[in-house]
Amino acid sequence: MSVPDLAVVGAGIVGLAHALAAARRGLRVMVVDRDPAAMGASIRNFGFVTVTGQAEGDTRRRALRSRAVWEEVAPKAGIAIHQRGALAVARRPEAHEVLAAYAASPEGEGCELHDAHHARRRWPMLAAGLSGALWSPHELRVEAREALPRLAHWLAQEHGVEFRWGVSVTGVEETLVRHAEGRIAAGAVVLAPGDGIRALAPEIARRAGLRACRLQMLRTVPQPAAFRLDAVLLSDLSLVRYEGFAAQRPAARLRARLEAEAAESLARGVHLLVAQGADGSLVVGDSHEYAESAQPFSSEEVDALILDELDAVLDVPRPGIAQRWAGVYPVADVAPLLRERLGDRTRAVVVTSGTGMSTAFAIGEETIAEMFG
Ligand SMILES: Cc1cc2nc3c(=O)[nH]c(=O)nc-3n(C[C@H](O)[C@H](O)[C@H](O)COP(=O)(O)OP(=O)(O)OC[C@H]3O[C@@H](n4cnc5c(N)ncnc54)[C@H](O)[C@@H]3O)c2cc1C
Repeated sequence: MSVPDLAVVGAGIVGLAHALAAARRGLRVMVVDRDPAAMGASIRNFGFVTVTGQAEGDTRRRALRSRAVWEEVAPKAGIAIHQRGALAVARRPEAHEVLAAYAASPEGEGCELHDAHHARRRWPMLAAGLSGALWSPHELRVEAREALPRLAHWLAQEHGVEFRWGVSVTGVEETLVRHAEGRIAAGAVVLAPGDGIRALAPEIARRAGLRACRLQMLRTVPQPAAFRLDAVLLSDLSLVRYEGFAAQRPAARLRARLEAEAAESLARGVHLLVAQGADGSLVVGDSHEYAESAQPFSSEEVDALILDELDAVLDVPRPGIAQRWAGVYPVADVAPLLRERLGDRTRAVVVTSGTGMSTAFAIGEETIAEMFG
């Protein structure tokens, strides 16, 4: 490709979403990434495309649109959808009240509220003694580490997007992208380097008060064949994290009870998300540790808090752990999205919350529409 209409820096989900939106308009697109394949937050996450529980307004609207794009693109790109729907289980009565309030709100449309008895009949792996559950039909989940390379491959094959892997960008001047071994001239540039924005454009990062949020994740050994979890599972601690649930009136009572009973989990940003992989393993997380720069060291205590919550929610022996990893996403004073105009034809786009897998396709469409009309 001689001079691309658009150069995208970063082949995570945000970069690929911009590449897709531009390629669909017939633009010639080049994507540049410092690594030989995507290695950032986008392959370390749950792959949970979440609608229910997202903040009302822009985030929910973007999540609904992005979910529709995932539905459309996944079969074309050979990406399997492993789960449909989310199952929020309430351990405490206060959590059940939050779920009931959510179900009765306009955002609860399509969701089903279950008492504990019915929930256990439908999902027999749930522990006894729960207060109830809410099932949402709106979510889907992909295996992020498979989905990202497949999406990149499909963009190259079907849309002629050119990928330059292993090219570390050192700076951008208007539409000139400088990298360690030369430069790339383009008609327009989108910087989508995720947490890498702090090295690439430190002045933007400083102005936005960017910090790192580090999450610990686990994958268990495969569960027996009889264990089949068809939705992504969450629990009480998630209901005070996800803004759509936390905005419900009874959430204050739930938070007060969690502060008394689960202060350490709250302090370490622990909540429970569980999704089953194709091989029967469970992807389990996570925690949220905020710092200027992410620490390299994982905490066994944090993993234990996550697994204690898993034990409380599922009626299965604690599974062995096959893998542990950590991921980082940036957070900022401007959340959930930092989109900055760096010049007439240059934008920086960074998702500053844990919602990129759920919202990136819509964000890409918005940026490209604003830049190209
Ligand atoms: C553990 C974890 C779980 C999560 N779970 C979910 C979830 O279930 N649902 C959800 O919606 N969101 C989730 N998130 C958030 C989501 O993963 C992020 O919002 C999203 O992946 C951000 O995508 P990105 O493309 O901006 O960043 P990244 O995926 O980090 O991609 C940035 C890319 O830019 C490249 N890059 C950086 N600097 C340079 C440079 N100088 N030159 C060239 N290339 C460069 C990097 O190599 C990288 O490939 C989770 C995040 C984590 C960490």
